[in-house]
Amino acid sequence: MFGPDIRCLVVVGAQWGDEGKGKVVDSLAEHADLVVRYQGGANAGHTVDTDQGEFILQQIPSGILHPRCRCVIGNGVVVDPETLFQEIDKLAARGVPMEGRLVVSDRAHLVLPYHKVLDKSSERSKKIGTTSRGIGPAYEDKYGRRGVRVGDLRHPDLTAKLVAAGVERANAMLGLSGSTERCDAAEITAMLVSLAPRLLPFVADAGRLVAEALKQDGRVLLEGAQGAMLDVDHGTYPFVTSSSTTAGGASTGAGIGPTMIDAVLGIVKAYTTRVGNGPLPTESTGPDGERLRELGGEFGAVTGRPRRCGWFDAMVVRYSVRVNGLTHLAVTKLDVLDTHEELPICTGYTLDGDVLDGLPDNVKELERVKAVYETLPGWRASTGGARRLADLPANARRYLDRLEREAGAPIRYIGVGTKREQLIEVS
Ligand code: GDP
Repeated sequence: MFGPDIRCLVVVGAQWGDEGKGKVVDSLAEHADLVVRYQGGANAGHTVDTDQGEFILQQIPSGILHPRCRCVIGNGVVVDPETLFQEIDKLAARGVPMEGRLVVSDRAHLVLPYHKVLDKSSERSKKIGTTSRGIGPAYEDKYGRRGVRVGDLRHPDLTAKLVAAGVERANAMLGLSGSTERCDAAEITAMLVSLAPRLLPFVADAGRLVAEALKQDGRVLLEGAQGAMLDVDHGTYPFVTSSSTTAGGASTGAGIGPTMIDAVLGIVKAYTTRVGNGPLPTESTGPDGERLRELGGEFGAVTGRPRRCGWFDAMVVRYSVRVNGLTHLAVTKLDVLDTHEELPICTGYTLDGDVLDGLPDNVKELERVKAVYETLPGWRASTGGARRLADLPANARRYLDRLEREAGAPIRYIGVGTKREQLIEVS
């Protein structure tokens, strides 16, 4: 997709995450100079299947698997320093060079042990179905203006002061919630002091680096985690993540102005999945959902949690096209539908008999909508070997044409398998 008109590209999940962004980003990263993660934390897992086996990346952008690509963890991300080094060490052990290739924004906030303890003890987190990795509490501290930022590690006294205040607050909250667990400020400060000499060489003003790369005609990919329906503003609130997953978040979270972005690619699965609680209008809790889960391997990359599955929801993708300003779509996992005789597509919703022209803002209403389906014939042939649009069976192309029409954005890529080469580019 990169070319004279597209030098800065945002890649976002256009449904509830797990759309297969990792693979598409991996493929695009081959032509990118910089790949920037702009939000989320170690709760997102990207899976990339390469000749050297499968890589699961949590905080480090998947561009790291391409030696000429540099990777940035933007200011919008909340960084877990302990797991970041586990990830770095694992990649290094598998021969992925890291030297000079990873930059962490000095303005990114840290996820600290007390955030994880709070997350695990929180009844609210359980209700929303979070991954309990401290992401929500870290963002709460960021917006409460009491967070610890990566750049603060340059000042040990400031770090110690912020950690002491954070721990005091966390312990008070634990006490109020009836938990007997307590955190130790001295222990956490000591951990940070020992990690700082390793982390600080990676730290820089990341927004400046991105802007400079673009000024020098570099190609920059801004990579989102999760999906639009989990965006804190535009998702199925309160069953959402704590950050701006949509394309608008790419600008703030990478530290560049929105006018620097040239295109936005939305990744959509050829069907729909969701992890955790909250409305999912096309969910099938019966054999159809089970079949999609088994064929699609719909289990979380990080947590192993089974994903809830259902048919393609054009209402959701149309909404996502709007809130993200999607200029292109990538449809992934088309091959998962290869054996289906029939493929329903949700083209609209009704609520108490009324036809809706958009998504209700209220989850209670979204939970009650009835999905209206139109059924298309399946193709019942393998698509895994297709490398051009013309290689796909006629009914597969009809299915994609319909998706494109319903969504209102052109399809640029089609995923037909887990391997790097199983990606069709529609020219
Ligand atoms: P992400 O967080 O959006 O990158 O999604 P995940 O990595 O959690 O899930 C994507 C899964 O789908 C991974 O196991 C990928 O290897 C796999 N995948 C990606 N694209 C395709 C595709 O076109 N077909 C199939 N069958 N699997 C795919």
